[in-house]
Amino acid sequence: MTATTLVILGASGDLTQRLLMPALYRLHALGLTPGLRIVGYAKEAWSREYFERHIHKALQAFAPDFKPAQWNRFRRQLDYVGGELQADQLAALKDKLSPASMFYLALPPPLFGMAATALGEAGFSNSPRGGWRRLVVEKPFGTDLASAEALREQMHTHWEEEQILRIDHFLGKETTQNLMVFRFANRFLEPIWNTQHIAQVQITYAETLGVEQRAAYYDKAGALRDMLQNHLMQLFSLTAMEPPSSWDAEVLRDHKVEVLRSVVPITAKTVNQHAVRGQYRAGTLGRKKLVGYRSEPGIKRGSDTETFAALRLEVDNWRWRGVPFYLRSGKRLASNYSEIAVQFREVPGPIPHAVHAGNNWMIFRIRPIECMDLLVTAKQPGVKLAGRPVTLAAPYATPNDREFSAYEQLLMDALGGDRSNFLRFDEVEWAWKVLTPVLEAWEKGTPDFYPSGSEGPETQARLLDPDHHWRSIARNGDG
Ligand code: NAP
Repeated sequence: MTATTLVILGASGDLTQRLLMPALYRLHALGLTPGLRIVGYAKEAWSREYFERHIHKALQAFAPDFKPAQWNRFRRQLDYVGGELQADQLAALKDKLSPASMFYLALPPPLFGMAATALGEAGFSNSPRGGWRRLVVEKPFGTDLASAEALREQMHTHWEEEQILRIDHFLGKETTQNLMVFRFANRFLEPIWNTQHIAQVQITYAETLGVEQRAAYYDKAGALRDMLQNHLMQLFSLTAMEPPSSWDAEVLRDHKVEVLRSVVPITAKTVNQHAVRGQYRAGTLGRKKLVGYRSEPGIKRGSDTETFAALRLEVDNWRWRGVPFYLRSGKRLASNYSEIAVQFREVPGPIPHAVHAGNNWMIFRIRPIECMDLLVTAKQPGVKLAGRPVTLAAPYATPNDREFSAYEQLLMDALGGDRSNFLRFDEVEWAWKVLTPVLEAWEKGTPDFYPSGSEGPETQARLLDPDHHWRSIARNGDG
């Protein structure tokens, strides 16, 4: 890596401490970021030494493999400038930049536009001869279609689309990247990855956590904006996309957008067939008694914000017509897990007497562990010809593999100029377009309640085809 500068705007915040700095520290320890200088920028009037101490504390808490000797080398990369998000104050960064410089907006989303403008006004969006300038933007990008478009316009005043890297950290996860490798590097899968052989797909992100420290943000956002519009829609488009003709970032993103454009539009009339929202009430998880969402500190009394959202999406193309994609995410559910589960259709038969051929599932598990499972039927040992379910399990990583966190992966991609794992604006735009009728319908009325520690609202069953059932959240997707 040639001399490169990474400026983190919002360097006093939670994301910097908990995720960015531990990732940068690990990349440094692995020798992957030689020549990288990291400049923190925030409104606090800190000295460089104070910033170092702040980051030192953060790494002790959040970097799993923290070592004092390594820290002594890492700290030399750090620098700090204090100031507001205004061009005249940002100008103090000028002498710290390299020809290759990247600005990371680790800021609350309402500040993204203003920060991008101020950086542009300070002249930092113009790539110098022989160098480059990039802008990394955290999620969420807008709160609906109109605000996303307005933010895009504001950013494009000074920044080209090619310079903007929109983060969705799910794209940096190993399982997400493995989905592409597994789908497109194995000959046996492609011929059956279609409506002829696949019955349904369920993409789930279930949490036992409530709103925790994020009440103010969450009560405005809700589950649809927080999880489905971005993370689950990305998993959906990667699962459903056509094989790309190359691994070029633009080709890859064209293919993902094509999936979103092929979704059968949800309309005001069909919202109830395609979307269910829920909100957790009081309940128990194990022995723990939990309060309902409306009684959580920081939540507006009588709030109608959804803490659970489920969608049924249909893709109208040759490959997928007739295959429902069910996406759901919620808080205070019965367990913590996430996965992409693909169910194959039943064999046409006949099958040997006394063999019950269960449906096959291919499961890409994301949490609590990353692995792939193929659920099949095999012979039960014994003199009778009987079958039983068997799981062909492939742990994703072996003990010798070095795994990278999502932020390690994405920071390396961003510094290396690989845009494949970042969202192009039209991906964001189409995801909002698909969901706009749902957001509009949910402006009125009340979500369906579910007890904390449960499977979510019972009404989610209405999204399913008659012969489908939701995978059990209590059993981490199985059963
Ligand atoms: P945060 O801790 O609330 O604040 C981030 C930074 O923004 C801090 O340096 C804060 O300075 C600064 N800031 C706040 N208001 C400001 C203002 N009016 N003018 C100038 N600076 C201001 O937020 P965060 O949790 O780090 O999140 C940052 C971004 O990362 C968000 O877009 C979030 O969605 C995304 N994200 C966060 C996480 C996470 O785990 N935290 C995970 C994924 C994505 P002060 O400290 O002085 O207020």
